[in-house]
Amino acid sequence: MEKYLSQLNEAQLAPTIQKDGPMIVIAGAGSGKTRVLTYRIAYLMSQGVDSFNILALTFTNKAAREMKERIAQIVGNEAKNLWMGTFHSVFAKILRFEGHHLGYPSNFTIYDTQDSQRLLGSIIKEMKLDKDVYKTKQIHSRISSYKNNLITVKAYLKNPELMEADAMARRPKMGEIYAEYVDRCFKAGAMDFDDLLLRTNELLTRFPNVLAQYQDKFRYILVDEYQDTNHSQYLIVRALADRFQNICVVGDDAQSIYAFRGANINNILNFQKDYHDVKLFRLEQNYRSTKNIVGAANSVIEHNKTKLDKVVWTANDEGEKVKVHRSLTDGDEGRFVASTIWEEKMNKQQLNSDFAVLYRTNAQSRSIEDALRKRDIPYQIYGGLSFYQRKEIKDVTAYLRLILNPADEEALKRVINYPARGIGQTTIDRLVVAANSYGKSIFEILKNLNNIDININNGTKNKLRDFVTLIESYQVMNKTANAFDLAEHVTKTSGLIREFNKDGTPEGITRLENVQELLNGIKDFVEGQMEIADAGDSLAEFLEDVALATDLDSDKGDSDHVALMTIHLAKGLEFNNVFIVGLEEDLFPSAMSMNTRSELEEERRLFYVALTRAEKQAYLTYALSRYRWGKLVDSEPSRFIDEIDEQFIENLTPKEERRFNPMLDADIFGDVEPSKVRFKKPKQPTLTKKGAPKKPAEKFQVSTPKNLKPVSKTSGGTTSANLFDDKLAVGNIVKHIRFGKGEVLKIEGAGADVKAEIKFEVGGTKKLLLRFAKLEVI
Ligand code: ATP
Ligand code: MG
Repeated sequence: MEKYLSQLNEAQLAPTIQKDGPMIVIAGAGSGKTRVLTYRIAYLMSQGVDSFNILALTFTNKAAREMKERIAQIVGNEAKNLWMGTFHSVFAKILRFEGHHLGYPSNFTIYDTQDSQRLLGSIIKEMKLDKDVYKTKQIHSRISSYKNNLITVKAYLKNPELMEADAMARRPKMGEIYAEYVDRCFKAGAMDFDDLLLRTNELLTRFPNVLAQYQDKFRYILVDEYQDTNHSQYLIVRALADRFQNICVVGDDAQSIYAFRGANINNILNFQKDYHDVKLFRLEQNYRSTKNIVGAANSVIEHNKTKLDKVVWTANDEGEKVKVHRSLTDGDEGRFVASTIWEEKMNKQQLNSDFAVLYRTNAQSRSIEDALRKRDIPYQIYGGLSFYQRKEIKDVTAYLRLILNPADEEALKRVINYPARGIGQTTIDRLVVAANSYGKSIFEILKNLNNIDININNGTKNKLRDFVTLIESYQVMNKTANAFDLAEHVTKTSGLIREFNKDGTPEGITRLENVQELLNGIKDFVEGQMEIADAGDSLAEFLEDVALATDLDSDKGDSDHVALMTIHLAKGLEFNNVFIVGLEEDLFPSAMSMNTRSELEEERRLFYVALTRAEKQAYLTYALSRYRWGKLVDSEPSRFIDEIDEQFIENLTPKEERRFNPMLDADIFGDVEPSKVRFKKPKQPTLTKKGAPKKPAEKFQVSTPKNLKPVSKTSGGTTSANLFDDKLAVGNIVKHIRFGKGEVLKIEGAGADVKAEIKFEVGGTKKLLLRFAKLEVI
């Protein structure tokens, strides 16, 4: 037996060496599904399957790269020939070769989300529609969902129900917008992300000989994370696998978290009906996590009604219990995360990269970032604005896109007057109208300004001609120069560098640095491509990578940082320690996803995914109030915490200390201005099971005077607040985090306003509000 196969358990070995026929591996998190796919590819090659005949589809490009590296360790250079990547990247490559059947140039541009939304924005404007009703983001997501369900414009216009639904949503012009958008993309020689799948489907359906060719090529197909494929992806896989039926998919129904983007969990549930004689394999042993984490995750997912029965167990250590932490504000939560990471690093010699902080929405990263920065803990945020979507980077790549594909409307509109060349918006609008009426690209119009009827004065026409000459000169250079030299030349001669230089602000400097970083990236890329591609191709390939890059991909893995990302992005990954933050009702589960049982169950699966990313330790945190949309709102702990079997949980704040205690909760408000803090009693008492407060702690009523208990009693001329259990008395010697040691001279005020006058050894006498002062009685 091949040596590497001994690194699999028996259950994993079976699907790995099942060479032919359709098969599905359904198994819980961390049970080795991805490992099976990886080793199976190596095994197939050892059995004489040509590496050129294997197609593996992964969820991220990063996953594909890692898989390829692992396979290369086993089989060597042959691994380079494997077709591996995300659906989008693999089929973008195929469309480069075959897109001409559908009328696309081989140098078609890929419009990213930003390009698509900008184009939709202009269409909505041109059509003079109300942009508050026709919101570009919503329109974009509608169109995306049509495309992923293979509803073309024609199909849409034949579907009264869909049209009716859009009309009901006050968007009767949806069909027209859709048609115009598709038309404009096509004329611009551009495909958006969804086109990469839709057009592939179109290609494989309309051109049987093309289909036959790729069926013959991809004799063995493997798909990871099959539970999150959408209808369009499903059809592509089915078409390609139809001839040889050597299709192996792995997935976990409990980790299906993309229904909101059209993923269809039925693809996994119906797999056995789609192919003949499907072999079904199950893996049950989890290798990733401790017993406590596996137990906690199992107990949560039990609450879902729609699920396949599955067993997940582990032989790993019991480990620490899942730790639950309650804080008052999001700022406080951030500080807890940062201080815990800091302590764990000190005590257990861990690296920053042993930690991940996962959240439901991107906006939550801010308070975590602030706290990490204060402690000088390096971190990287994944999934925000990717490097390639930054303005200055898009400005440079727009020039490069235009060189390759002058029909690219979004690229042209971006740079025709940037840097400023005196070409105004009215001129651009007229050009767009002319392009539409002549059925030509804007660039074609620009080249023929003399021969067409257009209301643009001669001075402006000259400026436009200069622009055309500039782009054409780059096109000439592109025939001989490599992508790096070209890009560097473009940044200098287009005036971009001058423009960024002019702006002497720190942001301007960052922009310049980013452009430099882009050039470095192109250089790296060109050097990597030297052997296989000529200069012209390298630019096209680079731009394709750029368009499809997620910033998970830009992580070179060479720096040690804490990872911050949404749970959606964390799928398939693993970390020693995982913080799941913001576990509050309305945030997680999200208020937007609680209307139906199926939405709630998807949220629960999301929580399951989050929890099962942890190898050694999971922390669940929630805050009792949080800034959302600029307002401080009260929140209750998430029901998901409550759903975990209590034997796997440890509450970090012991019950009796959970009452208002100025000693323990001194720093509670952090950077929140005290006068803005208004706590009120949470709607329902929660968390009765696991030692969390049965009743919301009384401190949340302190800002409402009428809720106060009698607060003061007099003793020997001093006042202390019984709300604080008389912990602090005159004469006490206390320690303050900043001022050091001091003696309490006086206590005054009531409720939330209790103040102590303290004479410090250094710094003299100070009056401190006990809510904030970090005091320790010594
Ligand atoms: P997910 O559902 O989260 O995608 P998965 O089922 O794909 O998880 P893998 O990522 O393949 O699981 O494996 C989880 C971890 O367990 C990895 O670190 C992997 O290397 C390790 N692992 C899997 N199988 C074995 C094994 N037989 N022996 C040792 N380690 C293993
Ligand atoms: Mg996996």
